[in-house]
Amino acid sequence: VSSSRVAEKWVKTTCGYCSVGCGMLVGVKDDKAVAVRGNPEHPVNRGKLCPKGLSEHHILTAPGRAKTPLLRKNGTLTPVSWDEALDTMVERFAGVQQKYGADALGVVGTGQLLTEEFYTLGKLVQLGFRSRSYDGNTTLCMASAVSGYKLSFGSDGPPGSYADMETADVVMLIGANIADNHPILCHRLERDAERTLIVVDPRVTKTAMMADLHLAVKPRSDIALLNGMAHVLIRDGLIDSTYISQYTDGFHQYKEFVAEYTPERVAALTGLSEETIVRVARLYGKARAAFIGWTMGVNHSTQGAVTVAAINNLALITGNIGRAGASPFSITGQCNAMGTRESGFTSSLPGYRKFEKQADREELARLWGLDVERIPTARGLAYPDIIEAAVAGKVKALWFIATNPAVSFPNYSVLEQALRSVDFLVVQDGFHPTPTSDFADLVLPAAIWGEKEGTYTNSERRVSKVNRVVAAPGEARADFDIFLDLAERLGVREELYPGWTTTHDAYKEWQRVSAGRLCDYSGISWEQIEEESGVQWGGARLYEDGVFRHEGGRAKLYNVPCEPFVEQPTSEYPYVLNTGRTVEHWHTRTKTAKVQLLDTMAPYAWLEMNPVDARRLQLKPHDRVSVISRRGSVKNLELRITGIVAPGQVFMPFHFAETNSNLVTLGAFDPISREPNFKQCAVLVERFVTK
Ligand code: SF4
Repeated sequence: VSSSRVAEKWVKTTCGYCSVGCGMLVGVKDDKAVAVRGNPEHPVNRGKLCPKGLSEHHILTAPGRAKTPLLRKNGTLTPVSWDEALDTMVERFAGVQQKYGADALGVVGTGQLLTEEFYTLGKLVQLGFRSRSYDGNTTLCMASAVSGYKLSFGSDGPPGSYADMETADVVMLIGANIADNHPILCHRLERDAERTLIVVDPRVTKTAMMADLHLAVKPRSDIALLNGMAHVLIRDGLIDSTYISQYTDGFHQYKEFVAEYTPERVAALTGLSEETIVRVARLYGKARAAFIGWTMGVNHSTQGAVTVAAINNLALITGNIGRAGASPFSITGQCNAMGTRESGFTSSLPGYRKFEKQADREELARLWGLDVERIPTARGLAYPDIIEAAVAGKVKALWFIATNPAVSFPNYSVLEQALRSVDFLVVQDGFHPTPTSDFADLVLPAAIWGEKEGTYTNSERRVSKVNRVVAAPGEARADFDIFLDLAERLGVREELYPGWTTTHDAYKEWQRVSAGRLCDYSGISWEQIEEESGVQWGGARLYEDGVFRHEGGRAKLYNVPCEPFVEQPTSEYPYVLNTGRTVEHWHTRTKTAKVQLLDTMAPYAWLEMNPVDARRLQLKPHDRVSVISRRGSVKNLELRITGIVAPGQVFMPFHFAETNSNLVTLGAFDPISREPNFKQCAVLVERFVTK
C-alpha cells in the first residue's frame, strides 16, 4: 500500500524549495508526514511537482536536526536551556555593541524565512538591536534583479507573470537553466509550435536543448548581445516610438550609445554570427508579445544590475511591458526571496520605501508609532560588506539565520577568516552540524518548512499560504517565536510588536504597512489565499498604465557598456569556471543531502570539460581531477567530458560541501547590487593524484 493511500489527512501548503511556488498537499498519518502530492487546483503547478517537491515530506523526518540550544563552553558545544541561550546571546551582543558600536553586530537572514518572520526580524535588528549591518542571503542570488528594476522602473517588482511566459510568441531566456532550477516552469513552456524559445547561455544546458534557437555566447557577453539587438531594432524600425516618447526617458543618448554595437562588433564580442544577431533581434522586434526571463547567469556578475537594466531597455523600446505576454521577468531563487525583498529593511525599507526619502520614513514612523529618528536614513552594510567588516575587525558579532555561508559564500578563505575573527557567532538553523554551525559559539535550533505557518511570495508576486504539517522536533522553535523572545529581552516587544503572538498578527501589520505601496498586501487576507491557492499582489502584471516609480513616473533607459569580466584566463589559469546547480539539490544540500532519493540521484559533484581540452590534457571520462585558482583548490572531482561546455570553459555544481566550488571562486561583487560574481573565474585543471 503506497504511503499516499494510508495518509489520514492532507494539509494544503506551498513548496519550501524554489521560487516557482508550487502548491502541494502533504499527507499525514500518526502525526508524521508520509507523502506529498501536487495540488491540482493550484494555478502555478496544476498538480505537478519536481523531484525536490515530490520528496519534500522526507525532510520532516530527516536525521541531523538541531533539537536543543547549544552554547560553546570550554571549546565544546554544550546543550543549554533556551533561557540561558537567549540571555547569553543578548548579553554578548550588547557587550560587543557597547564596545565597538551598534553596527558591530552583523545579521544575515534568508529567503527561507516566512514573510512574517523576515518582517519581524528586520524590525528587531534595525529598531531593537539598532544595527544597520543587516542583509539577507538573497544578496547572493537576486540583488542584481532588485537593483536593475530600481534603475529602470524606480522600484523593485517583477512586472509580469508565468501566464505571460506561456502566452508570449517569443520567449528569450538569458542565463536561466529552468529545466534544472525551476522545473515546473518548463512544464508551462511545453513545446508550442507557435512560440519561439530562444536560450542565451554559454553552456548547452537542458533548457538550451529545448530551445528553437540556442545562442552559446562567450561568458559575460550578454550585454553586448542586448546592445546589439537594440542597435538592429532601432536601425530596422522595429521599435515602439509612441511608447518610448510617452513613457521613457533617455532614448536619444541610448540610441547614440547602441549605434556603436554593430552586428559586426557584437559578433566579435559574443562569438555569434552577424546573421544570428540580426535574426534574434528581428524575432524579438516582430513578436506580437515578447518575454525575457533571466536568473543567475545574469545576476551572478559584477555587472548584474546593469545587465538587468539592459534587458529592461529592450522591453521599453519595443513596448514589451505591461501587456499580456510581454514582460522582462526575473525568475527568483528561494521560495520566499520575493517576500523578503518586499518586507525588507535590507536594500529598501518595508514596502519598497526608500531609506533616503524623508516622506517614506515619516510614513513608516507614523504607522509604527515611533519617532522618525529611529528609522535609518541610509542602507547599512550589505552581506559581502558585513563579511569584509568582520575580517577588518569592525563587525565583532555575527548572527546567521537559515543560511550556510561556509558553503555558499564566494572565496571561502576570506569567509573563514570572518567566521574565526568575530567574538561571538550565532547560527540559527533547522540542522546541526552544518559547515557553518561547526564554527558557532551558539546554535539555536529552528523549526523548518512544514513545522510553521505563514506566507511565501513567489517569482510572479503570488502570495501563498504555508501551513504547519507536524510539530518541530525536540526543543526546536519557530524563528518567529525566537525573534519575539529576543525582543522581550531587549525590552522592545510591546513597542515593536504590540499584542503579537502569532505570525498572523505580523501579517496583519504587514498588510497595513504595505497598503498603497506597489507591493500592496492590504486586500489579500489569509482566508483568500487559502481559498484561491495564492493571490498575486499587483494583479497579473505591473505598469499596465505606463506609470513607473521614478519621480515623474517615467521609466529610464540606461547606456550599459559591455566590460570584460574581472579575472580573465591566462596561460597559468587557462579555463573560465562557471558554477551552477542540478535539479536534484537545493543550495548547500543541508536538506537535500538527507533525502535518500535525491542524494542517490546526484551523490557528488563533477567537472564538465570540452573534449578538445580533455584531449590536450590527456584526460579520459571519469578521471579524477582538481580545479585550482589563485585562491585555493577543489580536489578529486569526477571529470565529465562533454560538448555541453565550450573549449576553454569548465563547469561544476556548487551544492557540495565536500568539493566546495567556493574554495576557488572570486570575491568580486557588483558595485550596485553587491551580488557576487560566481559565474566566471580563471582556473587550472589537473589530474588528481592520491598521495
Ligand atoms: Fe518546489 Fe520549485 Fe520543484 Fe515547484 S519547481 S516543486 S516550487 S522545487
